[in-house]
Amino acid sequence: MYVTDTIAAISTAVGEGGIGIVRISGPEAIEIVEEIFVSKKEKSLVEVDSYTAHYGQIIDPRNQQIVDEVITLVMKAPKTYTTEDIVEIDCHGGPIVVQKILDVVLHSGARLADPGEFTKRAFLNGRIDLAQAEAIIDLIRSQTEVGLEVAIDQLEGGLSKKVDQIKQDIVSLLAHLEATIDFPEDEIEDFNPDQLGARINEAIKKTSDLLATSQRGKILKEGLEVAIIGKPNVGKSSLLNALLRERRAIVTEVPGTTRDVIEEVINIDGIPLKIIDTAGIRKTEDKVEKIGVEKSEQFLKRADLVLLVVDINQGITTEDRDLIKLIKDKKKVVVANKFDLDNNLNLDSLEELLPETPIVKTSAIENEGIDRLEDVISDLVFSGDIRASNQTLITNMRHKNALDRAHQRLLDVRETFEKRLPNDFITIDLRAALEAVGEVTGDTIGEDIIDQIFADFCLGK
Ligand code: GDP
Repeated sequence: MYVTDTIAAISTAVGEGGIGIVRISGPEAIEIVEEIFVSKKEKSLVEVDSYTAHYGQIIDPRNQQIVDEVITLVMKAPKTYTTEDIVEIDCHGGPIVVQKILDVVLHSGARLADPGEFTKRAFLNGRIDLAQAEAIIDLIRSQTEVGLEVAIDQLEGGLSKKVDQIKQDIVSLLAHLEATIDFPEDEIEDFNPDQLGARINEAIKKTSDLLATSQRGKILKEGLEVAIIGKPNVGKSSLLNALLRERRAIVTEVPGTTRDVIEEVINIDGIPLKIIDTAGIRKTEDKVEKIGVEKSEQFLKRADLVLLVVDINQGITTEDRDLIKLIKDKKKVVVANKFDLDNNLNLDSLEELLPETPIVKTSAIENEGIDRLEDVISDLVFSGDIRASNQTLITNMRHKNALDRAHQRLLDVRETFEKRLPNDFITIDLRAALEAVGEVTGDTIGEDIIDQIFADFCLGK
């Protein structure tokens, strides 16, 4: 068991709320609260059962003043979030009240927790692995329901289970090969090179199947960057507004990320679409001219998807043709807007210019065709199968990098094996693969990386 001191932090968001929670965890948690809490029923927290709630007052021992009326929740080791004794003090949710209670708790012997330190303890004490701990951040930060589902699956151990299967495959291969190093081949009864090759392939397949989910995982977690382009007055801003009216996503600022462009986020079938708001960018620039071709090209370069808006009433003009050239190699949808007006658009020639590109007719002003546009976007991004989400997905770059390395090492194993090189060559790569896979769940990882991961958590988590 990882020996620790007792830590405390405010676990609710800053600001006014119905309740605020100060959380205390560690060997002294119950004793510390016992000193500052007066139970209405004169109970001793040391003696109460685990997972019970107690009503009373917090008294500042320095001046005997009442700080607040509270409920304390006592949770006793080892079946708690951190596996240590935990007390949560539920108080009134004013910023000063919560701060004052934390202050009294710290004065009585707890140390202020680092960001993520509660969850770090859950990991260091072996209750969850690193992939599960990281799922907790994803869960808190998820911006769509699908993102939340994926995080829950990882928290429940979906990813860890898949990773464990790969680990087991490698360990059993290693055990087998090490036996044949120690004893000549003919002395091992079940030595069968074909079988061994099949088992190596099996481990490679499991790893690559898991890696194959990372593209979808990345889109679900980070969203897609979408650029709405089109010549002036075709209705780009009107279209953005129509989309926002229907699907504006709840967006929270993630600490540590800086945005160099203004984005609006909409949620289509669980995919966060980050729409680069060129109108907003224009407002932040000193001079309108700064938004030149160069900048448009930059936005285009980073966009995962382009919505090219054309004006049905005007038909395709030279300006449209220039833009079409610019987006030739992009994933795109043509939005034929203003279809409430006369149609002067030659669909055949547009299809010729942009083969295999979906064309959706809309009237941004009358809110027509927006649903259809959303369906087309969703189909285009996930070939229509976004809802098959009860699958374990790789959503974390750290996990992807570790699995990529493991995969590469396993490919090396296969090559060495096929060349019939001595087994100890194979075992070197197998061990390296095992170590790389183990990074995902955190069993083979340095302390500095662990610290880095938890530093990204919020305070009190
Ligand atoms: P942007 O310059 O491409 O962003 O275009 P705006 O969204 O500012 O629209 C330019 C003009 O077209 C405005 O007067 C809008 O009211 C009008 N407009 C936009 N969408 C439609 C539409 O679907 N039908 C009609 N009739 N007018 C539209």
